[in-house]
Amino acid sequence: MNLKELTIASLHENLVKKTFSAREVTRDFLDTVRAEDEKIGAYLSVLEDSALEQADCVDSMIKEGKEIGPLAGVPLAIKDNMLIKGTRTTAASKILERYEASYDAEVIKKLKKENAIFLGKTNLDEFAMGASTENSGFHMTKNPHDLKRVAGGSSGGSAAAVAAHMALAALGSDTGGSVRQPSAFCGVVGMKPTYGAVSRSGLIAMASSLDQIGPITKTVEDAEILFSAIRGNDTYDATSAEDKAIHEFRELPSEAVKKLKIGVPKEFFVDGMDSRVTHAVEEAIARLKTLGFTFKEISLPHSKYALAVYYIIMPAEVSSNLARFEGMRYPGITEVRREVNNLRDLYFKTRGEGFGAEPRRRVLLGTYVLSAGYYDAYYAKAQKVRRLIRNDFEKAFRSVDVILAPVTPTPAFAIGEKASNPLEMYLSDIFTVQANLAGLPGISIPVKKYTVGSGELPVGFQLVGKSFHERDLFGIGKLYQREE
Ligand code: GLN
Repeated sequence: MNLKELTIASLHENLVKKTFSAREVTRDFLDTVRAEDEKIGAYLSVLEDSALEQADCVDSMIKEGKEIGPLAGVPLAIKDNMLIKGTRTTAASKILERYEASYDAEVIKKLKKENAIFLGKTNLDEFAMGASTENSGFHMTKNPHDLKRVAGGSSGGSAAAVAAHMALAALGSDTGGSVRQPSAFCGVVGMKPTYGAVSRSGLIAMASSLDQIGPITKTVEDAEILFSAIRGNDTYDATSAEDKAIHEFRELPSEAVKKLKIGVPKEFFVDGMDSRVTHAVEEAIARLKTLGFTFKEISLPHSKYALAVYYIIMPAEVSSNLARFEGMRYPGITEVRREVNNLRDLYFKTRGEGFGAEPRRRVLLGTYVLSAGYYDAYYAKAQKVRRLIRNDFEKAFRSVDVILAPVTPTPAFAIGEKASNPLEMYLSDIFTVQANLAGLPGISIPVKKYTVGSGELPVGFQLVGKSFHERDLFGIGKLYQREE
């Protein structure tokens, strides 16, 4: 079987027709992981035995003539900040090196009901903080298109696994671009749902008002299938939404898709952007025009403040979310416990040794912007500007249905190029943080089909939609890929 050509949709057809079994396909993926992952580093742990067991379960359903759903037997990779009961979940941090999840994340529960298969847990920047997966506490992930380059981040492991055919699809999490940016770097599709569309229960929190779990897949159609399985309201996530469009999610008929008007924000086409990105995005626009879409220039005047606002609000939330890792509640650095005499020492040692440089930097930054003397000047002000950024989108969506923009200012950069300069690294998020601050859905779609080994670096374009209008993004994306 050719794993390169396989999609979620085609796997399902083949399983039903009994061209091959779920065990065979799972075995093939596991063999690819064994052969390829040493050089790429996408996985932190591989769940071989349970994956094969899950596959056998799907095969016996097929044998018994039971109907199977679209995700049954689909081998998935899960970012290692989502809990799968009984398995190690580290968020790529040494502080959680020995932590075993005691319950399933809501998305995992949903996927288990669908009989999906979990091949393993993928690498990320520690606690999802970063844009290259170089900040992982364990090892870095390389870009399958060019091993001297980064896979992007923080869901670099998930994006690289899908691009290198080490999983058919994956889940990532996106706080400021962590699903869309690595997907663009690796030439796959990555989607961040509307805030509240997918439950965050069982996702190790980074910045709770921004985090969303989203699919990483080879095609837009696959992203839609995976999104529709994980969406929905959940009592364990107080911010999960009860929106009808999410509950009764249905694809948009193609006549309706063609009528969607696309806005292009002038502020997103700035000087200094890499010309490969400018050309690729222009190519995507040209193709959509030939498909009959109409475009309009729009303005999002406050988006130039988005990065500054994000790097105040996000660390503020990080500093409170990470307070729970103090050395008592999670079996992190156990040797530390033996060495200390008092509680203060325990905190200092555990956090000092367990957290890498980036989480420490953000905890300090966040504690600072929340401190009594600076709260109003930084945190409260940033919240006000966040509102203005959202207002810009609301206004723009009065005249257009969807917004098209670049995903990243450059294609995948070289390993080490930005590692010693955090500010440079933060600039990779310049086009993605807006959707998180405004809570809107966004998708990154490769401009064309990029095959690993072709010597070409992938570039993606981004579509941002109205709240709970993910079907508009899928609709346009599917037409774009269909006519390729
Ligand atoms: N690169 C961004 C950051 O470092 C986004 C991270 C994310 O979305 N998890 O914060």
